[in-house]
Amino acid sequence: MPASETIHVDGVWRAATSGATRAVLDPADAQTLQMVAEGGVEDVDAAVLAAHRAFAGGQGQWPRTPASERAALLRRVAGLLQRDREEIALIESRDTGKTLEEGRVDVDDVTNAFNYFADLVVNESGGRVVDAGSPDVHSVVVHEPVGVCAMITPWNYPLLQASWKIAPALAAGNTLVIKPSEVTPLSTVHLIMLLVEAGLPAGVANIVTGAGVPVGARLAEHPQVDLFSFTGGLASGTTAAQSAVAGAKKIALELGGKNPNVVFADACATDVAFDTAVDQALNAAFIHSGQVCSAGSRLIIEESVRDRFVTELARRAERIKLGRGTAEGVECGPLVSQQQLDKVAGYVASALAEGAKLRCGGSRPEPSEQRPATGYFYAPTVLDSCHRDMSVIREEIFGPILTVEAFHDEEEAVALANDTEYGLAGAVWSGDTARARRVAARLRHGTIWINDFHPYLPQAEWGGFGKSGIGRELGPSGLDEYRESKHIYENLKPEPVRWFAG
Ligand code: NAD
Repeated sequence: MPASETIHVDGVWRAATSGATRAVLDPADAQTLQMVAEGGVEDVDAAVLAAHRAFAGGQGQWPRTPASERAALLRRVAGLLQRDREEIALIESRDTGKTLEEGRVDVDDVTNAFNYFADLVVNESGGRVVDAGSPDVHSVVVHEPVGVCAMITPWNYPLLQASWKIAPALAAGNTLVIKPSEVTPLSTVHLIMLLVEAGLPAGVANIVTGAGVPVGARLAEHPQVDLFSFTGGLASGTTAAQSAVAGAKKIALELGGKNPNVVFADACATDVAFDTAVDQALNAAFIHSGQVCSAGSRLIIEESVRDRFVTELARRAERIKLGRGTAEGVECGPLVSQQQLDKVAGYVASALAEGAKLRCGGSRPEPSEQRPATGYFYAPTVLDSCHRDMSVIREEIFGPILTVEAFHDEEEAVALANDTEYGLAGAVWSGDTARARRVAARLRHGTIWINDFHPYLPQAEWGGFGKSGIGRELGPSGLDEYRESKHIYENLKPEPVRWFAG
């Protein structure tokens, strides 16, 4: 297909109805990677109609396909993802700026998600018999697909976020329309090609590339969409959800985070433990240049070890090798866009004006062969002496900025870590197991790591407390988001009830 035919509706790849296109840029040098279709409302309407017809009120080919066959298709997709692993990792690296190795990890994680939901739907496809209190009643709860699912994804983990929605939705028998971020649509286009190659019937999975408004907004409000699933920022997510709620759709929101990494002094008792805690704090904050919803962007550290810890952290942060994600030896890529670069620089300026102390970074790095001057690079930055009144502590920055706050006792550590309107993820580091578990139990976040940061499992729910979202992805709940429950009550011995005398 020609490069700009990135809209897939009812089994056909095509350009936007309007003919409009958009340049997708390589964030390492701001050069055009590929032209893609810039969809509009008419393209969304066509895609939703295709998905609606393919669902056909639950009587379409896909919703009526047995769970074992749907699972087999998901496993074929997993195989194709592994076949194309290097190609997809390269697409993701060039589109998002992340390193090639991170791109490979993403493809493996996406493969795991497809295999996980394939297994889960087979194991969970039977109904649940419930006791109706009478031997003459057979009562069973079964699951059915919801219908047409609209999916909107962000630019930081485009393929991964798409798979957490597409895999369970297809496993459950739904049809869908996905709109990837206009900044990084390429890997999702490739995924839809793999679904087609795996044999998914026409109209079941459709993609419309284009902007949040109008494409995403139209998906949110479209009357024939039954479920609206959004991953992205708080502002756009809540705006879009309002029109979805007005149409009484099911909604799922995966929004931002402001994630604490709580380090007790007893986690640094030996040189080895100190090295591990510093290394992981670095990883928590700076992997993918901090453009991670669960980034450990708030270091909350016990005062007695603060100076030693932050000094070593800043020393290592300064040595992170920044450059084009595909270049050999590069550890961190650029930010995704000029807009993101400006936002990050603005937050650093405001923090410094409010009294934060710069321990490293705070500017763009010198250009080099691996770092073109036109790329959106920003140096890993550590801001010490931060406090809750600063916007860098309260708002999600989504960049390579680590803030430091100090605490004196366990109570203060918990209070600081929970002092956020978000609640996506957080970590506690302690050499005292009882204390680590006590603190973990009190943290109000959807994922808590003890003496670790960032790992997640497809079989464990992912999602947030507070303003980090509504609902869960992954795990059994991640499948349930895409299923309706239906109670079938069967009276084996019907008799008159005589409620009315007549
Ligand atoms: P964003 O909110 O700017 O965009 C996300 C998606 O929403 C894009 O596809 C965009 O085109 C679309 N969109 C924008 N306005 C819209 C509107 N009015 N109606 C419908 N759609 C609209 O987010 P982003 O900058 O692409 O991604 C970064 C954000 O995503 C961060 O806040 C991050 O924390 C969040 N995120 C959360 C998770 C999670 O699992 N909770 C995972 C990844 C990213």
